[in-house]
Amino acid sequence: MSEELFTLLDVPIQNVTMDQALEQISSCTYPHEGPACELHFVNAHCINVSANDEVYRRILQSSEAVYADGSGIRKAGRIMGVQIADNVNGTDMFPLLCRRMQDEQKRIYLLGAAPGTAEKVRDWVGQEIGPGVIAGVHDGFFKETELDAVLADIQHSGADLLLVALGVPRQELWIRSVRDRLPVAAAMGVGGLFDFYSGNIPRAPRWLRAIGFEWVWRLIQEPRRMWKRYLIGNLVFLRRVHTAQRKGSPS
Ligand code: UDP
Repeated sequence: MSEELFTLLDVPIQNVTMDQALEQISSCTYPHEGPACELHFVNAHCINVSANDEVYRRILQSSEAVYADGSGIRKAGRIMGVQIADNVNGTDMFPLLCRRMQDEQKRIYLLGAAPGTAEKVRDWVGQEIGPGVIAGVHDGFFKETELDAVLADIQHSGADLLLVALGVPRQELWIRSVRDRLPVAAAMGVGGLFDFYSGNIPRAPRWLRAIGFEWVWRLIQEPRRMWKRYLIGNLVFLRRVHTAQRKGSPS
């Protein structure tokens, strides 16, 4: 999609600013022929997952756009001699995206997280951005037998953009598996985004985010689930990046 591509461990990442990313996403949300556009974010953890999961990696490689989320990707860029334009993460993007969709009279469907969570996000958007931006919501714990009903609800809502919060890589695999049947112009995987905007999980203070340590906050909040991802994962990620750099691979 962009000529500003940074390929990190075989994953092509858009090296663009938040504004450029919003422009790209907006262009994907117009009605078009063919399957829904797939748009994703990757952080250091995602790159680790992709190194071990070929199906996920191939989905990232063949999606319309993958955005550089977090300080780990910026650090990898520095190691590879590439200046990363921006921290294009879903959580910072969400209010901007809602405003943009509102300006363009497009609508968003929220799919994912525990029952009741997406409803709280819809309330937040209603209060902070305005009414009508969120076309519909559904939790992320539906059965395979309920898939048709979920897709019908998305279609009925008239949404242009679908945000899918099922965690990595489940959400990317899910989007790809139903891509041809998705009744929206574009779908994005957004991880834990709904948990933040519902207020279920407080987000790190701005100053901690500014210095690239949001991951420490998440580690403190959910140490049992996150210690492996961050304490071991960050080291594995840096080793992978250094190895790729030493090999002089084009990735
Ligand atoms: N989730 C879901 N359905 C599932 C598994 C997970 O809706 O079958 C939700 C979960 O409730 C949470 C999100 O997916 O809201 C994953 O959040 P996490 O912070 O783990 O995202 P990641 O960082 O892995 O992208």
